Amino acid sequence: MHPSHESRAGSAAGEPDAGKRRLLKLATASLLAWSGTGMAGSASAAATRQPGGPPLPENVMTPDDALTRLMAGNERYATGKSTPLEFSEEREALVSGQNPYACILGCSDSRVSPEFCFDEQHGDLFVVRIAGNYLTIDIVATLEYAAAVLHTPLIMVLGHGSCGAIGAAIKASDGNEQFPGHIQAMASALLPSVRMIKDMPGDRYENAIRMNVARTVDKLRRQPPLLSRLVSDEKVRIVGGVYSLKTGRVDLVA
Ligand SMILES: [Zn+2]
Repeated sequence: MHPSHESRAGSAAGEPDAGKRRLLKLATASLLAWSGTGMAGSASAAATRQPGGPPLPENVMTPDDALTRLMAGNERYATGKSTPLEFSEEREALVSGQNPYACILGCSDSRVSPEFCFDEQHGDLFVVRIAGNYLTIDIVATLEYAAAVLHTPLIMVLGHGSCGAIGAAIKASDGNEQFPGHIQAMASALLPSVRMIKDMPGDRYENAIRMNVARTVDKLRRQPPLLSRLVSDEKVRIVGGVYSLKTGRVDLVA
């Protein structure tokens, strides 16, 4: 477990003093920075970009550490050990800027709120949501901003079970169903994922949800000019997950 999580896990286990929690997080981050461990390449950039360092020093980490932290947060959430929400101190720290440690491209579905799913708070996650978690040029631009400007080391594409957008794409595929307004554009964007799993064994709906995540991850890893380079330089890691509505757990699928 990353040291900064211990303070959060500790607080969930019965540490009531928010001020003490915050101090512990900052002390841990300072130690990591001082010893040189836990400082990603992006960290030094963030530190020089903003006089006085990043607003949340504990968010400065390598892509692998970011994934470990994200999944540990999901474990706390899924097991009912989420950290009690306390906003005042984070809000003050974040007036000067932001340095989220992970970027989530998720579905707009009201049942899948990333900050809850990963037990994080303001300033931790840079979130983009669109029904069906697929890519448009605007979404690519937003993800590029997180990775290249904010130096966020991790991007997770987050699909989920029972995704209505994928369900619509399956209906469009099966019955040539036409949806009103602009909804058809969403179904059309997801159609390739439905077609690609046509001969795959197992549950068709679940396969399409996973395929959509995997395809989006693959496109992002190869997306020129910024993301492909950040990935090959190992400054950014891009992964895919599927959230279970029933268990609250995120399975890594790409
Ligand atoms: Zn959805």
